[in-house]
Amino acid sequence: SCLPPDPETSNETRQVYEACYSRVRPLKFSAPSLVAYSPEMARQLGLPESLLGSSQFAEVFGGGRVLPDMDPFAMCYGGHQFGNWAGQLGDGRAINLGEVIDVDGHHQTLQLKGAGPTPYSRFADGLAVLRSSVREFLCSEAMHHLGVPTTRALSLVLTGDRVTRDMFYDGHPQQEPGAVVCRVAPSFVRLGSFQIFASRGDIETLRTLTDYTIRNDFPHLLASQAAPGKETYQEFFAEVCQRTAELMVHWMRVGFVHGVMNTDNLSILGLTIDYGPYGWLEDYDPNWTPNTTDAQGRRYRYGHQPQIAQWNLAQFAGALLPLVDGDVESMQAGLKLYVETFEDGWHAMMSAKLGLDRFEPASDPELFGDLLEVLSLAETDMTLFYRLLADLPCDSPETTLPAADPETNRQRWMRSMNAAYYSPDEVSSDAMTKTLRWWERYRERLAAANIDEAQRNTRMNRINPLYVLRNYLAQLAIDRSEQGDHAGVWELLEVLRNPYEVQSGREAFAEKRPEWARHRAGCSMLSCSS
Ligand code: AMP
Ligand code: MG
Ligand code: MG
Repeated sequence: SCLPPDPETSNETRQVYEACYSRVRPLKFSAPSLVAYSPEMARQLGLPESLLGSSQFAEVFGGGRVLPDMDPFAMCYGGHQFGNWAGQLGDGRAINLGEVIDVDGHHQTLQLKGAGPTPYSRFADGLAVLRSSVREFLCSEAMHHLGVPTTRALSLVLTGDRVTRDMFYDGHPQQEPGAVVCRVAPSFVRLGSFQIFASRGDIETLRTLTDYTIRNDFPHLLASQAAPGKETYQEFFAEVCQRTAELMVHWMRVGFVHGVMNTDNLSILGLTIDYGPYGWLEDYDPNWTPNTTDAQGRRYRYGHQPQIAQWNLAQFAGALLPLVDGDVESMQAGLKLYVETFEDGWHAMMSAKLGLDRFEPASDPELFGDLLEVLSLAETDMTLFYRLLADLPCDSPETTLPAADPETNRQRWMRSMNAAYYSPDEVSSDAMTKTLRWWERYRERLAAANIDEAQRNTRMNRINPLYVLRNYLAQLAIDRSEQGDHAGVWELLEVLRNPYEVQSGREAFAEKRPEWARHRAGCSMLSCSS
Protein backbone atom coordinates (compact mmCIF):
# COMPACT_ATOMS: atom_id res chain seq x y z
CA SER A 1 0.00 0.00 0.00
CA CYS A 2 1.12 3.56 -0.61
CA LEU A 3 2.17 5.77 2.21
CA PRO A 4 0.46 9.13 2.76
CA PRO A 5 2.38 12.16 1.49
CA ASP A 6 5.25 12.99 3.79
CA PRO A 7 5.45 16.66 4.77
CA GLU A 8 9.25 16.40 4.83
CA THR A 9 9.30 15.15 1.27
CA SER A 10 9.63 17.53 -1.62
CA ASN A 11 10.87 16.95 -5.12
CA GLU A 12 11.23 20.67 -5.79
CA THR A 13 14.48 21.56 -7.52
CA ARG A 14 16.86 23.39 -5.16
CA GLN A 15 20.33 23.67 -3.70
CA VAL A 16 20.54 21.32 -0.75
CA TYR A 17 22.90 22.32 2.06
CA GLU A 18 24.32 20.40 5.02
CA ALA A 19 22.63 17.17 3.95
CA CYS A 20 23.80 14.11 2.07
CA TYR A 21 20.35 13.28 0.75
CA SER A 22 16.75 14.42 0.49
CA ARG A 23 13.60 12.38 0.98
CA VAL A 24 11.61 12.15 -2.25
CA ARG A 25 8.65 10.29 -3.74
CA PRO A 26 8.92 8.34 -6.99
CA LEU A 27 6.28 9.06 -9.62
CA LYS A 28 3.29 6.80 -10.13
CA PHE A 29 3.38 5.98 -13.84
CA SER A 30 0.29 5.03 -15.78
CA ALA A 31 0.98 1.43 -16.78
CA PRO A 32 4.19 -0.15 -15.42
CA SER A 33 5.08 -3.44 -17.13
CA LEU A 34 8.10 -5.68 -16.83
CA VAL A 35 10.52 -5.85 -19.76
CA ALA A 36 13.16 -8.06 -18.16
CA TYR A 37 14.86 -8.91 -14.90
CA SER A 38 18.15 -10.47 -13.92
CA PRO A 39 17.60 -13.94 -12.44
CA GLU A 40 21.02 -13.87 -10.72
CA MET A 41 20.34 -10.54 -9.09
CA ALA A 42 16.88 -11.61 -7.96
CA ARG A 43 18.37 -14.73 -6.42
CA GLN A 44 21.13 -12.73 -4.74
CA LEU A 45 18.51 -10.51 -3.15
CA GLY A 46 16.48 -13.54 -2.08
CA LEU A 47 13.36 -12.41 -3.93
CA PRO A 48 10.72 -15.13 -4.18
CA GLU A 49 10.36 -16.67 -7.64
CA SER A 50 6.61 -16.02 -7.59
CA LEU A 51 7.10 -12.28 -7.27
CA LEU A 52 9.28 -11.87 -10.35
CA GLY A 53 6.73 -11.93 -13.14
CA SER A 54 3.93 -10.36 -11.11
CA SER A 55 2.26 -7.01 -11.72
CA GLN A 56 3.16 -6.14 -8.14
CA PHE A 57 6.84 -6.48 -9.08
CA ALA A 58 6.49 -4.05 -11.99
CA GLU A 59 4.59 -1.63 -9.79
CA VAL A 60 7.23 -1.65 -7.03
CA PHE A 61 10.26 -1.53 -9.33
CA GLY A 62 8.61 0.99 -11.60
CA GLY A 63 8.35 3.28 -8.58
CA GLY A 64 4.56 3.39 -8.36
CA ARG A 65 4.25 1.49 -5.14
CA VAL A 66 6.35 2.42 -2.14
CA LEU A 67 6.34 -0.45 0.34
CA PRO A 68 5.92 0.36 4.05
CA ASP A 69 9.58 -0.18 4.94
CA MET A 70 10.90 1.91 2.06
CA ASP A 71 12.03 5.47 2.74
CA PRO A 72 12.98 6.80 -0.71
CA PHE A 73 15.71 9.38 -1.02
CA ALA A 74 17.95 11.08 -3.59
CA MET A 75 21.59 11.87 -2.87
CA CYS A 76 23.40 15.17 -3.08
CA TYR A 77 26.71 15.28 -4.93
CA GLY A 78 28.80 17.54 -7.11
CA GLY A 79 31.38 16.86 -9.72
CA HIS A 80 33.91 17.91 -12.30
CA GLN A 81 32.27 17.59 -15.70
CA PHE A 82 34.77 17.39 -18.56
CA GLY A 83 37.39 18.82 -16.24
CA ASN A 84 35.36 21.77 -14.95
CA TRP A 85 33.80 22.09 -11.52
CA ALA A 86 30.03 21.97 -12.02
CA GLY A 87 28.75 22.56 -8.46
CA GLN A 88 25.75 20.63 -7.20
CA LEU A 89 24.59 17.77 -9.41
CA GLY A 90 23.06 14.96 -7.36
CA ASP A 91 20.65 12.15 -8.14
CA GLY A 92 18.57 14.00 -10.70
CA ARG A 93 16.67 10.91 -11.72
CA ALA A 94 17.82 8.23 -9.34
CA ILE A 95 15.78 7.41 -6.27
CA ASN A 96 17.02 5.03 -3.60
CA LEU A 97 14.29 2.83 -2.18
CA GLY A 98 16.38 1.67 0.75
CA GLU A 99 18.79 -1.01 1.81
CA VAL A 100 18.33 -4.76 2.01
CA ILE A 101 20.54 -7.60 3.23
CA ASP A 102 21.27 -10.11 0.45
CA VAL A 103 21.56 -13.89 0.75
CA ASP A 104 25.27 -13.58 1.62
CA GLY A 105 24.57 -11.13 4.42
CA HIS A 106 25.85 -8.09 2.52
CA HIS A 107 23.95 -4.82 2.42
CA GLN A 108 22.63 -3.70 -0.95
CA THR A 109 20.92 -0.47 -1.92
CA LEU A 110 18.04 -0.65 -4.38
CA GLN A 111 17.88 2.38 -6.61
CA LEU A 112 15.38 3.31 -9.32
CA LYS A 113 16.72 5.25 -12.28
CA GLY A 114 14.13 7.25 -14.19
CA ALA A 115 11.43 7.30 -11.52
CA GLY A 116 10.85 11.04 -11.54
CA PRO A 117 12.31 14.40 -10.53
CA THR A 118 14.21 15.11 -7.34
CA PRO A 119 15.65 18.27 -5.78
CA TYR A 120 18.70 17.54 -7.98
CA SER A 121 16.97 17.40 -11.35
CA ARG A 122 18.08 20.91 -12.32
CA PHE A 123 16.49 21.59 -15.74
CA ALA A 124 15.71 17.99 -16.60
CA ASP A 125 12.67 15.76 -16.11
CA GLY A 126 13.94 12.96 -13.87
CA LEU A 127 12.95 10.39 -16.46
CA ALA A 128 14.76 7.82 -18.59
CA VAL A 129 13.89 6.38 -21.98
CA LEU A 130 13.69 2.72 -22.90
CA ARG A 131 16.73 2.82 -25.18
CA SER A 132 19.15 4.04 -22.50
CA SER A 133 17.52 1.85 -19.87
CA VAL A 134 18.00 -1.30 -21.98
CA ARG A 135 21.63 -0.28 -22.37
CA GLU A 136 22.13 0.21 -18.63
CA PHE A 137 20.28 -2.98 -17.72
CA LEU A 138 22.19 -5.20 -20.14
CA CYS A 139 25.61 -3.68 -19.63
CA SER A 140 25.43 -3.83 -15.83
CA GLU A 141 24.80 -7.54 -15.95
CA ALA A 142 27.24 -8.15 -18.82
CA MET A 143 30.02 -6.46 -16.85
CA HIS A 144 29.22 -8.54 -13.79
CA HIS A 145 29.53 -11.76 -15.75
CA LEU A 146 32.78 -10.54 -17.30
CA GLY A 147 34.16 -10.18 -13.79
CA VAL A 148 34.31 -6.38 -13.95
CA PRO A 149 33.28 -4.55 -10.75
CA THR A 150 29.96 -2.84 -11.43
CA THR A 151 26.64 -1.72 -10.06
CA ARG A 152 24.06 -4.35 -10.91
CA ALA A 153 20.62 -4.27 -12.45
CA LEU A 154 17.65 -6.12 -11.02
CA SER A 155 14.90 -5.10 -13.40
CA LEU A 156 13.80 -3.09 -16.39
CA VAL A 157 10.25 -1.77 -16.34
CA LEU A 158 8.34 0.18 -19.00
CA THR A 159 6.39 3.01 -17.42
CA GLY A 160 3.60 3.16 -19.97
CA ASP A 161 4.24 6.90 -20.30
CA ARG A 162 6.15 8.71 -23.03
CA VAL A 163 9.16 10.92 -22.58
CA THR A 164 10.27 13.81 -24.80
CA ARG A 165 13.86 13.71 -25.95
CA ASP A 166 16.01 15.77 -28.25
CA MET A 167 17.17 12.81 -30.24
CA PHE A 168 20.22 12.53 -32.40
CA TYR A 169 18.46 10.89 -35.34
CA ASP A 170 17.23 14.15 -36.87
CA GLY A 171 17.72 16.76 -34.17
CA HIS A 172 13.99 17.14 -33.48
CA PRO A 173 12.34 16.33 -30.17
CA GLN A 174 10.69 12.93 -30.15
CA GLN A 175 8.37 11.00 -27.91
CA GLU A 176 9.95 7.84 -26.64
CA PRO A 177 8.78 5.12 -24.26
CA GLY A 178 9.82 5.79 -20.66
CA ALA A 179 11.46 3.13 -18.50
CA VAL A 180 12.88 2.55 -15.04
CA VAL A 181 15.88 0.39 -14.18
CA CYS A 182 16.32 -0.88 -10.65
CA ARG A 183 20.03 -0.72 -9.95
CA VAL A 184 21.70 -2.53 -7.06
CA ALA A 185 24.99 -1.79 -5.30
CA PRO A 186 26.36 -1.77 -1.77
CA SER A 187 26.73 1.99 -2.20
CA PHE A 188 26.02 4.53 -4.91
CA VAL A 189 28.31 7.12 -3.31
CA ARG A 190 30.63 8.80 -5.81
CA LEU A 191 33.84 10.81 -5.64
CA GLY A 192 31.65 13.86 -6.27
CA SER A 193 29.64 13.06 -3.13
CA PHE A 194 32.64 14.22 -1.08
CA GLN A 195 33.62 17.05 -3.36
CA ILE A 196 30.35 18.92 -2.93
CA PHE A 197 30.83 19.41 0.82
CA ALA A 198 34.52 20.25 0.52
CA SER A 199 33.70 22.85 -2.14
CA ARG A 200 31.23 24.51 0.22
CA GLY A 201 33.62 24.39 3.17
CA ASP A 202 31.07 22.20 4.94
CA ILE A 203 33.64 20.07 6.75
CA GLU A 204 31.18 18.71 9.25
CA THR A 205 28.99 17.06 6.59
CA LEU A 206 32.11 15.95 4.71
CA ARG A 207 33.26 14.16 7.86
CA THR A 208 29.82 12.69 8.49
CA LEU A 209 29.68 11.20 4.98
CA THR A 210 33.28 9.95 5.10
CA ASP A 211 32.86 8.33 8.49
CA TYR A 212 29.57 6.77 7.39
CA THR A 213 31.18 5.39 4.23
CA ILE A 214 34.16 3.98 6.11
CA ARG A 215 31.95 2.36 8.77
CA ASN A 216 29.58 0.83 6.25
CA ASP A 217 31.71 0.00 3.24
CA PHE A 218 35.32 -0.02 4.49
CA PRO A 219 34.87 -1.42 8.01
CA HIS A 220 38.19 -3.30 7.78
CA LEU A 221 39.94 0.07 8.00
CA LEU A 222 38.60 0.61 11.50
CA ALA A 223 39.99 -1.13 14.55
CA SER A 224 36.99 -2.29 16.59
CA GLN A 225 35.16 0.62 18.21
CA ALA A 226 37.74 3.19 17.12
CA ALA A 227 36.58 6.38 15.43
CA PRO A 228 38.20 7.19 12.09
CA GLY A 229 41.28 9.37 12.38
CA LYS A 230 43.75 11.00 10.02
CA GLU A 231 45.38 7.67 9.21
CA THR A 232 42.03 6.03 8.53
CA TYR A 233 41.24 8.74 6.00
CA GLN A 234 44.60 8.25 4.30
CA GLU A 235 44.05 4.50 4.12
CA PHE A 236 40.53 5.08 2.87
CA PHE A 237 41.82 7.27 0.07
CA ALA A 238 44.54 4.76 -0.81
CA GLU A 239 42.02 1.94 -1.02
CA VAL A 240 39.74 3.94 -3.30
CA CYS A 241 42.81 4.57 -5.49
CA GLN A 242 43.67 0.90 -5.55
CA ARG A 243 40.14 -0.20 -6.42
CA THR A 244 39.86 2.41 -9.15
CA ALA A 245 43.17 1.27 -10.66
CA GLU A 246 41.92 -2.31 -10.72
CA LEU A 247 38.74 -1.14 -12.41
CA MET A 248 40.71 0.67 -15.11
CA VAL A 249 42.70 -2.51 -15.82
CA HIS A 250 39.41 -4.36 -16.30
CA TRP A 251 38.01 -1.72 -18.65
CA MET A 252 41.17 -1.86 -20.74
CA ARG A 253 41.05 -5.64 -20.75
CA VAL A 254 37.52 -5.95 -22.11
CA GLY A 255 37.52 -2.85 -24.31
CA PHE A 256 34.94 -0.87 -22.37
CA VAL A 257 34.74 2.90 -22.85
CA HIS A 258 32.66 4.63 -20.18
CA GLY A 259 32.17 7.81 -22.17
CA VAL A 260 31.52 10.24 -19.29
CA MET A 261 34.18 9.83 -16.63
CA ASN A 262 33.17 12.91 -14.68
CA THR A 263 34.02 12.75 -10.97
CA ASP A 264 30.33 12.26 -10.20
CA ASN A 265 30.42 9.11 -12.32
CA LEU A 266 33.21 7.41 -10.38
CA SER A 267 32.14 5.09 -7.60
CA ILE A 268 33.71 5.21 -4.16
CA LEU A 269 33.78 1.40 -4.31
CA GLY A 270 35.59 1.22 -7.63
CA LEU A 271 32.49 -0.03 -9.43
CA THR A 272 31.52 0.83 -12.97
CA ILE A 273 28.64 3.25 -12.45
CA ASP A 274 26.24 5.31 -14.59
CA TYR A 275 25.96 3.62 -17.94
CA GLY A 276 25.26 6.45 -20.36
CA PRO A 277 26.93 6.93 -23.75
CA TYR A 278 29.33 4.06 -23.10
CA GLY A 279 30.60 1.80 -25.84
CA TRP A 280 32.69 -1.26 -26.60
CA LEU A 281 35.78 -1.11 -28.74
CA GLU A 282 35.26 -2.80 -32.03
CA ASP A 283 38.38 -2.15 -34.09
CA TYR A 284 41.23 -1.44 -31.70
CA ASP A 285 41.57 2.34 -31.54
CA PRO A 286 42.85 4.01 -28.36
CA ASN A 287 41.39 7.33 -29.53
CA TRP A 288 37.85 6.07 -29.89
CA THR A 289 35.01 7.47 -27.79
CA PRO A 290 31.35 6.58 -28.29
CA ASN A 291 30.23 9.90 -26.81
CA THR A 292 29.37 12.40 -29.56
CA THR A 293 29.29 15.17 -26.94
CA ASP A 294 33.02 14.50 -26.45
CA ALA A 295 33.87 14.06 -30.13
CA GLN A 296 36.09 17.15 -30.20
CA GLY A 297 38.22 16.89 -27.08
CA ARG A 298 38.00 13.12 -26.78
CA ARG A 299 38.77 13.54 -23.10
CA TYR A 300 37.14 10.22 -22.33
CA ARG A 301 38.59 8.13 -25.16
CA TYR A 302 39.45 4.48 -24.51
CA GLY A 303 43.20 4.87 -24.13
CA HIS A 304 42.93 7.91 -21.88
CA GLN A 305 40.71 6.37 -19.21
CA PRO A 306 43.47 5.39 -16.76
CA GLN A 307 44.87 8.93 -16.79
CA ILE A 308 41.44 10.46 -16.34
CA ALA A 309 40.76 8.22 -13.36
CA GLN A 310 44.02 9.42 -11.83
CA TRP A 311 43.05 13.05 -12.42
CA ASN A 312 39.68 12.39 -10.81
CA LEU A 313 41.34 10.79 -7.80
CA ALA A 314 43.57 13.84 -7.40
CA GLN A 315 40.40 15.97 -7.20
CA PHE A 316 39.03 13.53 -4.65
CA ALA A 317 42.25 13.82 -2.62
CA GLY A 318 41.72 17.57 -2.60
CA ALA A 319 38.23 17.08 -1.21
CA LEU A 320 39.52 14.92 1.64
CA LEU A 321 42.34 17.31 2.59
CA PRO A 322 40.40 19.03 5.39
CA LEU A 323 40.12 15.64 7.11
CA VAL A 324 43.90 15.10 7.12
CA ASP A 325 44.79 18.60 8.36
CA GLY A 326 45.64 19.73 4.86
CA ASP A 327 48.56 17.31 4.69
CA VAL A 328 49.01 17.02 0.92
CA GLU A 329 52.04 14.73 1.28
CA SER A 330 50.00 12.16 3.16
CA MET A 331 47.66 11.78 0.20
CA GLN A 332 50.47 11.25 -2.29
CA ALA A 333 50.82 7.64 -1.14
CA GLY A 334 47.35 6.89 -2.47
CA LEU A 335 48.07 8.38 -5.86
CA LYS A 336 51.35 6.52 -6.00
CA LEU A 337 49.48 3.33 -5.17
CA TYR A 338 47.12 4.11 -8.03
CA VAL A 339 49.99 4.26 -10.51
CA GLU A 340 51.66 1.12 -9.18
CA THR A 341 48.44 -0.87 -9.01
CA PHE A 342 47.53 0.12 -12.52
CA GLU A 343 50.96 -0.67 -13.95
CA ASP A 344 51.25 -4.03 -12.21
CA GLY A 345 47.68 -4.85 -13.10
CA TRP A 346 48.14 -3.86 -16.70
CA HIS A 347 51.27 -5.99 -17.05
CA ALA A 348 49.58 -9.00 -15.46
CA MET A 349 46.49 -8.47 -17.58
CA MET A 350 48.39 -8.19 -20.87
CA SER A 351 50.47 -11.24 -19.98
CA ALA A 352 47.31 -13.22 -19.34
CA LYS A 353 45.64 -11.93 -22.51
CA LEU A 354 48.59 -13.34 -24.44
CA GLY A 355 48.64 -16.59 -22.50
CA LEU A 356 52.01 -15.99 -20.84
CA ASP A 357 52.65 -17.62 -17.50
CA ARG A 358 54.34 -14.58 -16.02
CA PHE A 359 55.35 -11.04 -16.83
CA GLU A 360 58.95 -10.57 -17.98
CA PRO A 361 59.86 -6.95 -17.15
CA ALA A 362 62.91 -6.91 -19.42
CA SER A 363 61.15 -7.70 -22.67
CA ASP A 364 57.37 -7.90 -22.31
CA PRO A 365 56.57 -4.16 -22.23
CA GLU A 366 57.95 -3.94 -25.74
CA LEU A 367 56.04 -7.01 -26.85
CA PHE A 368 52.80 -5.48 -25.52
CA GLY A 369 53.50 -2.04 -26.92
CA ASP A 370 54.31 -3.39 -30.36
CA LEU A 371 51.16 -5.50 -30.35
CA LEU A 372 48.99 -2.48 -29.64
CA GLU A 373 50.70 -0.64 -32.43
CA VAL A 374 50.15 -3.55 -34.79
CA LEU A 375 46.49 -3.73 -33.79
CA SER A 376 45.94 -0.14 -34.87
CA LEU A 377 47.68 -0.55 -38.24
CA ALA A 378 44.68 -2.28 -39.78
CA GLU A 379 41.09 -2.14 -38.50
CA THR A 380 41.18 -5.13 -36.18
CA ASP A 381 38.38 -6.23 -33.88
CA MET A 382 40.01 -6.36 -30.47
CA THR A 383 37.68 -8.93 -28.92
CA LEU A 384 37.93 -11.36 -31.81
CA PHE A 385 41.66 -10.84 -32.20
CA TYR A 386 42.55 -12.35 -28.83
CA ARG A 387 40.21 -15.28 -29.30
CA LEU A 388 41.64 -16.03 -32.74
CA LEU A 389 45.19 -15.66 -31.49
CA ALA A 390 44.42 -18.22 -28.79
CA ASP A 391 43.36 -20.70 -31.47
CA LEU A 392 46.19 -19.94 -33.87
CA PRO A 393 48.85 -22.66 -33.55
CA CYS A 394 52.06 -20.95 -32.50
CA ASP A 395 54.36 -23.93 -32.17
CA SER A 396 53.81 -26.09 -35.26
CA PRO A 397 56.92 -27.16 -37.24
CA GLU A 398 55.72 -25.16 -40.19
CA THR A 399 56.15 -21.96 -38.24
CA THR A 400 59.25 -22.96 -36.33
CA LEU A 401 61.70 -20.14 -36.26
CA PRO A 402 63.69 -18.70 -37.76
CA ALA A 403 63.26 -20.25 -41.18
CA ALA A 404 59.54 -19.95 -41.68
CA ASP A 405 58.57 -18.76 -45.11
CA PRO A 406 56.97 -15.29 -44.82
CA GLU A 407 54.41 -16.07 -47.49
CA THR A 408 53.25 -19.21 -45.69
CA ASN A 409 53.07 -17.31 -42.45
CA ARG A 410 51.12 -14.56 -44.07
CA GLN A 411 48.56 -17.05 -45.35
CA ARG A 412 48.27 -18.75 -41.99
CA TRP A 413 47.86 -15.45 -40.24
CA MET A 414 45.28 -14.16 -42.70
CA ARG A 415 43.31 -17.40 -42.56
CA SER A 416 43.05 -16.98 -38.81
CA MET A 417 42.50 -13.28 -38.62
CA ASN A 418 39.94 -12.92 -41.39
CA ALA A 419 37.16 -12.72 -38.86
CA ALA A 420 38.92 -9.96 -36.92
CA TYR A 421 39.98 -7.68 -39.78
CA TYR A 422 37.26 -5.29 -40.89
CA SER A 423 38.76 -5.04 -44.37
CA PRO A 424 41.09 -8.02 -44.87
CA ASP A 425 41.86 -7.00 -48.44
CA GLU A 426 43.07 -3.60 -47.35
CA VAL A 427 45.72 -4.65 -44.86
CA SER A 428 48.78 -2.91 -46.23
CA SER A 429 51.95 -4.87 -46.87
CA ASP A 430 53.76 -2.66 -44.37
CA ALA A 431 51.16 -3.49 -41.74
CA MET A 432 51.46 -7.15 -42.62
CA THR A 433 55.24 -7.12 -42.33
CA LYS A 434 55.06 -5.52 -38.90
CA THR A 435 52.33 -7.92 -37.85
CA LEU A 436 54.30 -10.99 -38.89
CA ARG A 437 57.38 -9.63 -37.19
CA TRP A 438 55.36 -9.24 -34.00
CA TRP A 439 54.00 -12.77 -34.34
CA GLU A 440 57.50 -14.11 -34.75
CA ARG A 441 58.55 -12.38 -31.53
CA TYR A 442 55.48 -13.70 -29.74
CA ARG A 443 56.27 -17.24 -30.80
CA GLU A 444 59.86 -16.81 -29.64
CA ARG A 445 58.56 -15.61 -26.31
CA LEU A 446 56.27 -18.64 -26.00
CA ALA A 447 59.03 -21.02 -26.98
CA ALA A 448 61.51 -19.48 -24.53
CA ALA A 449 59.05 -19.96 -21.69
CA ASN A 450 58.15 -23.42 -22.92
CA ILE A 451 54.47 -22.62 -22.89
CA ASP A 452 52.17 -25.47 -23.71
CA GLU A 453 49.70 -24.67 -26.48
CA ALA A 454 46.67 -26.13 -24.72
CA GLN A 455 47.48 -24.24 -21.56
CA ARG A 456 47.97 -21.04 -23.50
CA ASN A 457 44.60 -21.46 -25.14
CA THR A 458 42.83 -22.11 -21.83
CA ARG A 459 44.55 -19.22 -20.11
CA MET A 460 43.68 -16.79 -22.89
CA ASN A 461 40.05 -17.82 -23.21
CA ARG A 462 39.56 -17.36 -19.50
CA ILE A 463 40.43 -13.69 -19.67
CA ASN A 464 39.55 -12.70 -23.23
CA PRO A 465 35.77 -12.67 -23.66
CA LEU A 466 34.13 -13.97 -26.81
CA TYR A 467 30.82 -12.19 -26.24
CA VAL A 468 30.66 -8.53 -25.30
CA LEU A 469 27.75 -6.12 -25.55
CA ARG A 470 28.60 -4.88 -29.00
CA ASN A 471 27.03 -1.51 -29.62
CA TYR A 472 25.02 -2.69 -32.61
CA LEU A 473 23.75 -5.78 -30.77
CA ALA A 474 22.35 -3.57 -28.03
CA GLN A 475 20.75 -1.35 -30.66
CA LEU A 476 19.09 -4.31 -32.40
CA ALA A 477 17.58 -5.42 -29.09
CA ILE A 478 16.43 -1.85 -28.46
CA ASP A 479 14.79 -1.61 -31.89
CA ARG A 480 12.79 -4.75 -31.15
CA SER A 481 11.93 -3.67 -27.63
CA GLU A 482 10.60 -0.34 -28.85
CA GLN A 483 8.24 -2.37 -31.06
CA GLY A 484 7.05 -4.32 -28.02
CA ASP A 485 9.18 -7.42 -28.56
CA HIS A 486 11.47 -7.84 -25.55
CA ALA A 487 12.83 -11.25 -26.53
CA GLY A 488 15.98 -9.64 -27.91
CA VAL A 489 16.81 -8.20 -24.50
CA TRP A 490 16.34 -11.56 -22.83
CA GLU A 491 18.40 -13.29 -25.50
CA LEU A 492 21.33 -10.89 -25.12
CA LEU A 493 21.15 -11.17 -21.35
CA GLU A 494 21.34 -14.94 -21.72
CA VAL A 495 24.33 -14.85 -24.09
CA LEU A 496 26.21 -12.38 -21.91
CA ARG A 497 25.86 -14.59 -18.85
CA ASN A 498 28.68 -16.75 -20.21
CA PRO A 499 30.98 -14.40 -22.07
CA TYR A 500 34.04 -16.67 -22.06
CA GLU A 501 32.47 -19.91 -23.26
CA VAL A 502 31.70 -20.80 -26.86
CA GLN A 503 27.92 -21.07 -27.13
CA SER A 504 26.88 -23.17 -30.08
CA GLY A 505 24.15 -21.67 -32.21
CA ARG A 506 25.05 -18.18 -30.97
CA GLU A 507 27.79 -17.41 -33.51
CA ALA A 508 25.91 -14.28 -34.57
CA PHE A 509 26.65 -12.68 -31.20
CA ALA A 510 30.39 -13.11 -31.64
CA GLU A 511 30.90 -11.46 -34.97
CA LYS A 512 32.51 -8.18 -35.85
CA ARG A 513 30.19 -5.22 -36.36
CA PRO A 514 28.45 -5.42 -39.75
CA GLU A 515 29.13 -2.60 -42.19
CA TRP A 516 25.58 -1.18 -41.99
CA ALA A 517 26.19 -0.39 -38.33
CA ARG A 518 29.40 1.55 -38.90
CA HIS A 519 27.80 4.99 -38.92
CA ARG A 520 24.36 4.30 -37.54
CA ALA A 521 23.28 6.32 -34.50
CA GLY A 522 23.09 4.14 -31.42
CA CYS A 523 25.57 1.68 -32.96
CA SER A 524 28.71 3.73 -33.21
CA MET A 525 27.81 7.12 -31.77
CA LEU A 526 25.79 8.03 -28.73
CA SER A 527 24.73 11.32 -27.28
CA CYS A 528 24.14 12.06 -23.62
CA SER A 529 20.40 12.27 -24.39
CA SER A 530 18.99 9.42 -22.37
P1 AMP B 1 25.28 12.10 -16.17
O1 AMP B 1 26.24 12.85 -16.99
O2 AMP B 1 24.28 11.29 -16.94
O3 AMP B 1 25.93 11.29 -15.12
O4 AMP B 1 24.36 13.18 -15.42
C1 AMP B 1 24.85 14.33 -14.80
C2 AMP B 1 23.79 14.89 -13.88
O5 AMP B 1 22.60 15.16 -14.61
C3 AMP B 1 23.40 13.98 -12.74
O6 AMP B 1 23.17 14.80 -11.63
C4 AMP B 1 22.13 13.36 -13.25
O7 AMP B 1 21.31 12.91 -12.20
C5 AMP B 1 21.50 14.50 -14.01
N1 AMP B 1 20.57 14.06 -15.05
C6 AMP B 1 20.85 13.45 -16.21
N2 AMP B 1 19.74 13.19 -16.91
C7 AMP B 1 18.70 13.65 -16.17
C8 AMP B 1 17.29 13.69 -16.34
N3 AMP B 1 16.68 13.20 -17.43
N4 AMP B 1 16.55 14.25 -15.36
C9 AMP B 1 17.12 14.75 -14.25
N5 AMP B 1 18.44 14.76 -14.04
C10 AMP B 1 19.23 14.21 -14.97
MG1 MG C 1 25.92 10.36 -13.54
MG1 MG D 1 23.59 9.43 -15.76
